[in-house]
Amino acid sequence: MKNIYELFKSGVVIGDGGYLIELERRGYVDSGSGRERVGTGRGSGQFTPEVAIENPDALRELHREFLNAGSQVIQALTFFGTREKLSRAGYGADTEKINFAAVKIAKEVAGDKALVAGSVSRTQLTEREGMTSLDKSRDHINEQIRLLKDAGVDFLILETFFHLAEMSIALQCAASVGLPAVATMSFRPTIAKCSDDKTPAECARVMASLGAIAVGANCEQDPKRMLPLLREMRSATDVPLAAQPAAFHTTNECHSFTRLPAFPDDLETIQVSRGEFTDFGKLARNEGIGYAGGCCGCNAAYIRALARGVQNPG
Ligand SMILES: [Zn+2]
Repeated sequence: MKNIYELFKSGVVIGDGGYLIELERRGYVDSGSGRERVGTGRGSGQFTPEVAIENPDALRELHREFLNAGSQVIQALTFFGTREKLSRAGYGADTEKINFAAVKIAKEVAGDKALVAGSVSRTQLTEREGMTSLDKSRDHINEQIRLLKDAGVDFLILETFFHLAEMSIALQCAASVGLPAVATMSFRPTIAKCSDDKTPAECARVMASLGAIAVGANCEQDPKRMLPLLREMRSATDVPLAAQPAAFHTTNECHSFTRLPAFPDDLETIQVSRGEFTDFGKLARNEGIGYAGGCCGCNAAYIRALARGVQNPG
């Protein structure tokens, strides 16, 4: 099996799709919408990865589907797996167990057919408590990255960070344990700036300067809506771009599906067709995208469509 650097050299790397929304649809993940108003942007909602210990077969099956669809990288379901986020969902004491189980399951399915990436996201402390909480974020992110390193991931995908300051901390933590990291921000409510007011170009430059092996964006936008921000990043840096868009339509006023009323219980009404991911795959190489996958709303059908586009560029 090639390592991640070799995969980048051999062509556009095909990632996998979104886990939490798909497993929520299948009944194994809690969106939190039954207890609180989700989608306010203030860190509400559950969407935590305890499925790795509670229903491991469901997670294993979704990994298999992505692998079968052409994914060259399988992401361990460790998204929202910091002790901070897990504690608010009632799973703080299981932090080690959940992270280790998720990596073990991903490695079993990947075998020698795919690499396994550890997924690390924001703590949600910055949304809830502001920028003074960044030191606490550092402790939590550092703990999770060390767990993922011990569990044996091949590299990290740092994703769905809203604040460049928190992403910068995550990149420093990744460097401190020697794990290569793909770094993707999520832009909301529009693609113009991230939550601490930095443009996509500024984000790309900073992430690359902190050692990210690829920089880009994930979640929130469908491929067409995300493309202009990726182009802005492309013009700002020489490292490969990584793009894992969502499969949900957004509006001209709000470029963020998690801020639309359809999130999380009526997402079927804004679902993008898989053909848009084929079109996106066709563009990837010319747009300088070295890592292409999907995020929320992308099941295996979308990854198969994306892979077809990558393999048959326009
Ligand atoms: Zn997503």
